Amino acid sequence: MGLMLKAVPGTNDIFAQAKEYPFREPVFRYIVSTAEEVLRGAGAQMVYTPIFEYLEVFQKGVGLTSDIVVKKEMFVFEDRGGRLLALRPEPTASIVRAYNEHGMKVWPQPVRLFTWGPIFRGERQQKGRYKQFHQVDYEALGLSDPLLDAEAIALMVRIYKTLGLKHLEVKLGSVGDPEDRLRYNQYLRELFGPYAKDLSEDSRVRVEANPMRILDSKSERDQALIAELQPKPMLAFLGPAAQKFHQQVCNYLDRLGVAYTVDPNLVRGLDYYVRTAWEVHHAGIGAKSALGGGGRYDGLSEMLGGPPVPGVGFGIGIERLAIALEQEGVALPADPCPTLYLAPLDEAAKIEVLALAEQLRPKVNVEIGYTPKSPRKALEEALKKGARYVGFIGEDERARGVVTLKHLETGEQRALEPLQLHSLFEGPEIK
Ligand code: AMP
Repeated sequence: MGLMLKAVPGTNDIFAQAKEYPFREPVFRYIVSTAEEVLRGAGAQMVYTPIFEYLEVFQKGVGLTSDIVVKKEMFVFEDRGGRLLALRPEPTASIVRAYNEHGMKVWPQPVRLFTWGPIFRGERQQKGRYKQFHQVDYEALGLSDPLLDAEAIALMVRIYKTLGLKHLEVKLGSVGDPEDRLRYNQYLRELFGPYAKDLSEDSRVRVEANPMRILDSKSERDQALIAELQPKPMLAFLGPAAQKFHQQVCNYLDRLGVAYTVDPNLVRGLDYYVRTAWEVHHAGIGAKSALGGGGRYDGLSEMLGGPPVPGVGFGIGIERLAIALEQEGVALPADPCPTLYLAPLDEAAKIEVLALAEQLRPKVNVEIGYTPKSPRKALEEALKKGARYVGFIGEDERARGVVTLKHLETGEQRALEPLQLHSLFEGPEIK
């Protein structure tokens, strides 16, 4: 026998009995359906974009100096014509591409879209970091108004809270306008330049390319130098327009009663952010990893060759959120149990059981036994499944054209014809 093939490390199968909590299908479903309910309930519209695009969509979008591009974290491959494609390392660029491609600019603005699905990043193997993970993503496009930023933050927090999460912290910052960032990066370049040799390898490259990202470094060496040099925060470099915008987002959040702390040092991984940037942290996940993040990206559409389209949005990492839910002991909604478990007592009853089940479905949640068993065994099986009724069909039932039906709680048993069975399940008892 050959070697049994396994999944690529950093990818996961998601199913109910998965060993690790974040990959259990019920928690996934709970997160996605709750997010969908919240976002649809707020008037956002679902969009599914392809999971791969031309490489340029992401390269231009996330920026040439972001970790995703610099550290070659994208999964890139060629189509037959030799054109480079990439699996999406983030959903925003695809959504902006779709907005432009389908002329959504002429729709009433803002256009508010959401999606969920897999995201791919060729990151080094680490706990809680995967090569394929999943995000819920929301984007509000076409209007540059701090009201939309405040709404996005409020919706994100509402999703977490609706799920039952308590220990949240929203860190809000601003990365300013591009010209503010230029000035800030120049300041950081001059500050860190003389100490480049003391920085980690990754950050040494950043001094020239994107010094702001040094502040976000996970390396202890870098953090020690940052503590020593005490760089001024990004917020101190905001121009008047960005400053006013930031203040308005804060005012709106105060008015909405959404709690947040201003983090003057907040920087985000992708280059396209302007002005508002935020992260949601959770005590159980640790300070260094965010549960989710968002920001404004008013220049992104032009980078993709489109017209100016301001936008703001967020991404919620599903696996990390599942870990937080587990840590807080949030109970998942129970899976529905079958109303009726129908069991064949002999070989010839197998198809009778299936035929009856198919007549009753989907009104009644019916599961069936696939192999003949004794009434006692069938009863045990029905109890295990949490069914309300168990029904048997054997030789005797076939001859009489009935089902023997037993109510599992009361123990009451009677023989019913299919028509009587239908009216029983239409009655108030099972509603
Ligand atoms: P980002 O797009 O980097 O801002 O990430 C948004 C969220 O996605 C993060 O806060 C995490 O919850 C999640 N996330 C990012 N990268 C990974 C990864 N490699 N594995 C699992 N979750 C991730």
